[in-house]
Amino acid sequence: MTTIALIVAAGRGTRMGEGLPKQYMDLAGRPVLGHTLAAFTEHPSVDSVRAVIHPNDMDLYRDSAQGLEVMEPVPGGASRQNSVLLGLESLTEFDPKNVLIHDGARPLVSPGIIERTISALDEAPGAIAAVPVRDTLKRQKQGSSKIEETVDRFGLWRAQTPQGFRFDDILAAHRSAQGLDLTDDAAIAERAGLTVALLEDRDDNLKITTSDDLTRAIRTLTGGGEIAVGSGFDVHKFGPGDRIRMCGVDISHSHGLIGHSDADAALHALTDALLATVGGGDIGVHFPPSDARWAGEDSATFVQFALDQIQARGGRISHVDLTIICEAPKIGPHRTAMIGRLSELLGLGEDRINVKATTTEGLGFTGRREGIAAQATTTVMLPGSHR
Ligand code: MG
Repeated sequence: MTTIALIVAAGRGTRMGEGLPKQYMDLAGRPVLGHTLAAFTEHPSVDSVRAVIHPNDMDLYRDSAQGLEVMEPVPGGASRQNSVLLGLESLTEFDPKNVLIHDGARPLVSPGIIERTISALDEAPGAIAAVPVRDTLKRQKQGSSKIEETVDRFGLWRAQTPQGFRFDDILAAHRSAQGLDLTDDAAIAERAGLTVALLEDRDDNLKITTSDDLTRAIRTLTGGGEIAVGSGFDVHKFGPGDRIRMCGVDISHSHGLIGHSDADAALHALTDALLATVGGGDIGVHFPPSDARWAGEDSATFVQFALDQIQARGGRISHVDLTIICEAPKIGPHRTAMIGRLSELLGLGEDRINVKATTTEGLGFTGRREGIAAQATTTVMLPGSHR
């Protein structure tokens, strides 16, 4: 194996005043450690991922690692340094070329810094993610809150992780540093005389230590983006037939609906509303009625196309609201089936889907039972530019 990521998550620090160690706290629907593990398992240049955990945290770990391809975790020791050494010793049987040591509580590590750390090991035995100090630094007078002096910040960096090393080098350095108390793995490498490169990383690869950090991480993950709202409207005319299809559900009726495809006005309005959130034009642009390919087509195809456009933009549907406007057939008895079908089509929870119906009090074309109209409103979360 070339590169293994060793995720250090054995700490039990509960500085936030809650019972749960910080690496297992919920971050936008997934434990912090789950985000961290996924960042490495999904990275094409990382061959394998192993976590070092506290032996009492096995259940919490399993929840975090659910669905991820990771090695069995190994138990950590009394200190972080000791946990890393135990993790490194457990990897000797795989004889990796490189190891990336990373804090389990840094879930926002970017694919870019992982890649750069690995690449840097071609040139140096060690390389770490770090951020240049930009604030002016003050030293306080001992025993007082007054300033003693202003410290020259030139050449000062804050060390983050990943910290990457050639495996044999860092294992030997760790073995010889046993019993010492060094604050990070770079310090252990430095002590062994290894050259360690500084790689400038972004500030948002933060270590979650306080509840403010957690809030900041949630904002980075979810709130860095924007909300897009789309609307759509469609009409189909009644014609000969004995059933109509609405929201993908077939309903017996005295008439059918005329249309080039299956004439599902609700799914057409929904497709337009979805496309609108990514500036995707409308259904007619992508599926012109002049194109014989779409004759009798299941409108689920159009919805799927719009979903693909949203996914290509990294978007995620948050909510859908549909209104069906007609005197007949009655929509109420079919609402549950419609919501179920929409949930299936959109991969969205039923609690995020609303289907309602109204009449126009006998007025207009829907009132005269000449056709059915449908309108849709969708809410889509689009990512920000931070990742
Ligand atoms: Mg239509």
